[in-house]
Amino acid sequence: MDSFILERKERAIITLNKHYDIIILGLGSMGSATSYYTARKGKSVLALDQFHPPHRLGSHSGGSRIIRKAYFEHPDYVPLLNLAYTNWQELENIYNQKFFHKTGLIYFGKENELLINGVQRSANKYQIHLTEFSEEDLKQSYPQFNIPSEFTRLLEPDAGFIETDTTIEAYHTLAKNEGANLFTDTKVNDWDYQNNKITVYTEKGNFTAEKLILCAGAWTSALLRESGHVIKLNSTRQSFFWFEPDDTSNFIPHKFPCWNIQDPNYEGLFYGFPYKTEGNPNAPYGLKLAHHVAGKSANPDNLLEEPKQFEKETITKILDKYIPNTSKNLIAAGSCIYTNSSDEDFIIDYLDNTDKNVILACGFSGHGFKFVPAIGDLLSEMAISKVKAKELEFLSLSRF
Ligand SMILES: Cc1cc2nc3c(=O)[nH]c(=O)nc-3n(C[C@H](O)[C@H](O)[C@H](O)COP(=O)(O)OP(=O)(O)OC[C@H]3O[C@@H](n4cnc5c(N)ncnc54)[C@H](O)[C@@H]3O)c2cc1C
Repeated sequence: MDSFILERKERAIITLNKHYDIIILGLGSMGSATSYYTARKGKSVLALDQFHPPHRLGSHSGGSRIIRKAYFEHPDYVPLLNLAYTNWQELENIYNQKFFHKTGLIYFGKENELLINGVQRSANKYQIHLTEFSEEDLKQSYPQFNIPSEFTRLLEPDAGFIETDTTIEAYHTLAKNEGANLFTDTKVNDWDYQNNKITVYTEKGNFTAEKLILCAGAWTSALLRESGHVIKLNSTRQSFFWFEPDDTSNFIPHKFPCWNIQDPNYEGLFYGFPYKTEGNPNAPYGLKLAHHVAGKSANPDNLLEEPKQFEKETITKILDKYIPNTSKNLIAAGSCIYTNSSDEDFIIDYLDNTDKNVILACGFSGHGFKFVPAIGDLLSEMAISKVKAKELEFLSLSRF
């Protein structure tokens, strides 16, 4: 089994000490797209990260993320997803590269339970196309699955997966092309807002700005504490696994879809991807799957613990039950962080007492990556025009 080893890059000395229109704290998932959208709208932008994203220490590692629109969590996410789908397409057009692989996704679970109920609710409200498979249809189209007859089987053809590392790299390149200054390996120790001006204190000097956008993932609480704001977030360690099935050719994209299963014996959901043929230490090859349920609380400043034996056993049982002949060879496993808000919905808002000059984007709770291009776009609007899109209202701080 590969183990994930942290390597920090040599730190460069930055001598610049400058004023910017907008500073973005964090250049991971949300910060990368936000730095592009703010710079593209003509603003002078400084974006800072303590590491060198993409990396394995935050919430974006593992190489891929599921994207789907029939959102079982809540239909209010669908308008945001409509914007995300448009902006993923735009990214692919600008960059002339595929990031979103439309493999389709099948939801398996019992009628009237969280997954199937939630998927149907969003699909009905927003006319999202789903195909219901009979037991026979499923055997014909996807014989790789072994699904209990009492389960419902719903295919969302426009769902699939997103590549994470290449997305972050692409947004960094585009942001730089638009004139943004991206400083990696630069830790922010603190920030403050006084006399209508933001100062950001880093280990390599201080910077000032008109606006600050906080996209700090699992480190958000620490940065808010320093500034006197308290928002309840719980960071948890999550695991994912890659297996080598007996016959890999049956599991490649377009022969095998992404999937979500609600198993009656476990809390949360299981989800997986088609077989990936190419691998690297950050995203190994293989058939990837994971358990979506909040794990053990984790301090992001400590090296993440490796996946546990009980997690491996659970995942193996799920494969044996639903996708036979795939669990014999575990190739790799890794850990990553969820930053959970108390209701598992994102938190996107202006911070109190900052005259709408400091914006918080956090609590992406294990389901944020698919929204990256939409969040980046809307955060840039919040900063530039001080207007929060109506699609973001349900994610406001006032709900707590
Ligand atoms: C196992 C797992 C599976 C997931 N599956 C899915 C999925 O299938 N679909 C989906 O849509 N989403 C999924 N997600 C969720 C998604 O990956 C996250 O919601 C998203 O990556 C969060 O992005 P972020 O920008 O908040 O955090 P990050 O990408 O971690 O970025 C935060 C950045 O801030 C930087 N930073 C923090 N503090 C400082 C500081 N003081 N100074 C400088 N820099 C700082 C960090 O170094 C980091 O680079 C999954 C997450 C995990 C862990």
